[in-house]
Amino acid sequence: MGLFSRDRITGKTRSELTRMRVAGLLVARTLELLQAEVRPGMTTLQLDTLAETYIRDHGGIPNFQLVPGYRHTLCTSVNEEIVHGIPSASRVLLEGDLLSVDCGAQVEGWNGDAAFTVVVGGREAGRPEDLALSEATEESLWAGIAALRVGHSLYDVGAAVEDALTAAGERVGREYGIVEDYVGHGIGTSMHMDPQVPNYRVSGRGPKVVEGTTICIEPMVTLGDQDNRVLDDEWTVVTRDGSRAAHWEHAVAVTSAGLCVLTALDGGAGRLGALGATYAPLD
Ligand code: MG
Ligand code: MG
Repeated sequence: MGLFSRDRITGKTRSELTRMRVAGLLVARTLELLQAEVRPGMTTLQLDTLAETYIRDHGGIPNFQLVPGYRHTLCTSVNEEIVHGIPSASRVLLEGDLLSVDCGAQVEGWNGDAAFTVVVGGREAGRPEDLALSEATEESLWAGIAALRVGHSLYDVGAAVEDALTAAGERVGREYGIVEDYVGHGIGTSMHMDPQVPNYRVSGRGPKVVEGTTICIEPMVTLGDQDNRVLDDEWTVVTRDGSRAAHWEHAVAVTSAGLCVLTALDGGAGRLGALGATYAPLD
């Protein structure tokens, strides 16, 4: 990553950030809807249709469809699928499945992108290790978010994510696999922009976080090894050892006043304080 260490981040203006919050909120509300609707017996394509309808009905465009070669609104990754699972009419969700849903929307040219993991059928249907994995991954995402400060290194994010996962693993006597082949990213007028945002500790100083930085942090974590491969569909990434995986993501705006989690319904108001970060609303 040393080659990237001088990458300069371009900050966004206040009015641009406000417009990104609109896109982020649409993603947040779409994911809230999906979380409420997901149940055993549904197909992942039904979830995709729900998401596309909701986004278009609320003035957005499913921005995953702007990625060359991809036609869906969501990525739905089940069990040993880590990321980029393709929604399908033949993929019926079963009670106890560990499902990651990744969703993006563009509104008036600005983008949001976020993901959550859930046990199909609710917590009581989940294997304890799957619940712990998902909680650890979400916790590590928020630790990474809280590490964002104007003037600090972007690489503080990955260090905080990794430390949180190490600590969470130690609590349950396990070493989680942190996937290094896929990383977070800048976001703005496109969903995927520079800089890359590693979800793990890297050496080097890294780009400096500037006023108006907007990035997506998205740890992908497994119960086993981080080794992975892409299926013949050329999208779905699975663990090589068959272990289950979780994926959580938020888009975040950083200003000198603090943070706004663009894809959280409350902007992060409920969680940031306990993590030593300041919530700075944009709306
Ligand atoms: Mg995403
Ligand atoms: Mg992303």
